[in-house]
Parts: sequence; structure tokens; C-alpha cells
Amino acid sequence: MFLTDVRIPDSRRLGEVGDGWRVAQTTLNNERVAIGGMRLPREGGMIGPAAATWRERPELRTHDLHQRLLKLWVEAEVARLTGERLRQQLVAGQPGPEGAGMKLAFARLNQEISGLEVELLGEEGLSYDDWTMRRPELVDFTGREAGYRYLRSKGNSIEGGTTEILLNIVAERVLGLPAEPRTDKDVAWKDLAR
Ligand SMILES: Cc1cc2nc3c(=O)[nH]c(=O)nc-3n(C[C@H](O)[C@H](O)[C@H](O)COP(=O)(O)OP(=O)(O)OC[C@H]3O[C@@H](n4cnc5c(N)ncnc54)[C@H](O)[C@@H]3O)c2cc1C
Repeated sequence: MFLTDVRIPDSRRLGEVGDGWRVAQTTLNNERVAIGGMRLPREGGMIGPAAATWRERPELRTHDLHQRLLKLWVEAEVARLTGERLRQQLVAGQPGPEGAGMKLAFARLNQEISGLEVELLGEEGLSYDDWTMRRPELVDFTGREAGYRYLRSKGNSIEGGTTEILLNIVAERVLGLPAEPRTDKDVAWKDLAR
């Protein structure tokens, strides 16, 4: 999208002059919290359909899948409760480091849970009910069948900031570890070799 000759009154400015990067980072962080910290009921999100398949299809069960499903169920519940705590802290004006971790956990759990469901369903899990490639009306991570969930969850570790970038953010901004070596720090964008 290109916007030309747009004038915006100073009264609509967010933050101080020259502080735009901080505003942009806040916006990006809000997107991560929106993706990874969605308010969910217990068994909401990706774990819901996996647990439902487990309950409805006893003939598919194995001991190993049972152990793995239980572990992921607990992790999904911990992630959900961490999201609750994050929202309560935000309301109280105390944003904690959970925001970055929520998006990381969301992507990993979605991929592991949907992978387990496809494994549970065997060949059935590979079926795909719609090849029209139409653009969905709304972002829907858990709708449709297991095969769709499995493929859609691959995007979860890319969209809204990749897992690698989020790990860098957690390392540098949350844990205070040394930053990655950079040659472009403090060099103006116009002066970068491109
Ligand atoms: C399903 C989906 C939906 C999306 N929706 C939107 C949307 O609605 N709006 C929008 O604007 N964008 C959207 N995107 C784009 C998304 O935000 C970008 O794809 C994402 O931020 C990664 O940027 P990139 O593709 O340029 O990858 P790059 O930045 O080129 O990264 C390529 C790879 O290199 C790794 N990498 C890059 N830098 C580093 C580093 N410093 N250290 C370690 N590893 C690194 C990355 O982790 C990644 O694996 C969507 C993407 C997907 C997959």
C-alpha cells in the first residue's frame, strides 16, 4: 500500500518525535499478544478437537499417544492460565515478559498437538476437505478437519514474528543476554549497503 501526500495533524502523533520505533515495537508486541494470548475456555484452541477425537474414537488409542496427549493437555492448560495472568497484569498496568513467551508456546503447542492428532487419526488425518484455496473470511486456526489444522499451524511459527526472532527478543530484552553481533547498528537506513 502506498500513501502519498498524506498529512496527519500533530495531535494524532503517538509518542515523542523520533520515538516511532518504540511505537512500532509496541504495535508488533500487541499483535503477538493477540495471537498467542487469546482468551480461551479450558480445552479451547488446538487441544479441544484433539481431546474430542481421543474421547470419541477409543479404537485409535495407544499407550504412547495417551502419554503424549496428557502432557500436551497439561501444557495447553498452563499456557491458557499464563494468558489469563498476562491479561490481569495488563489490566493492572503491569505488562510482564509473558507476551513474548505466549506466542512462542502457542506456535510450538499448535504444531505438536495438531501433529499428534494427525498421528492419532492415521490415514484419515491426512484428508483435506477443501481444495478451492479460497481466502477465508476470518483467521481460523482450529476450524475444519485435522489435516487443515496441521497445515495451518505451520504458519503459526512464522506469522506475527518468527519463532527465531521471538527467541532473540526473549534472550536480549527479557533475559538481558548479550545481543547478536551486528554491523548495521547505529547506521542510518539510507547509508546501509543494499
Ligand atoms: C500464515 C501467515 C499469515 C501472515 N499474515 C500477515 C499479515 O496479516 N500481515 C502482515 O503484514 N504479514 C503477515 N505475514 C507475514 C509474516 O509477518 C512474515 O512472514 C514474518 O514476519 C517473517 O518475515 P519474512 O517472511 O520476511 O522472513 P525473514 O525475516 O526473511 O526470515 C526468514 C527466516 O530467517 C529467520 N531469521 C531472520 N532473521 C533472523 C535473525 N536475526 N536471527 C535468527 N533467525 C532469523 C527467520 O526466523 C525465518 O526463519 C503472514 C505470514 C504467514 C505465514
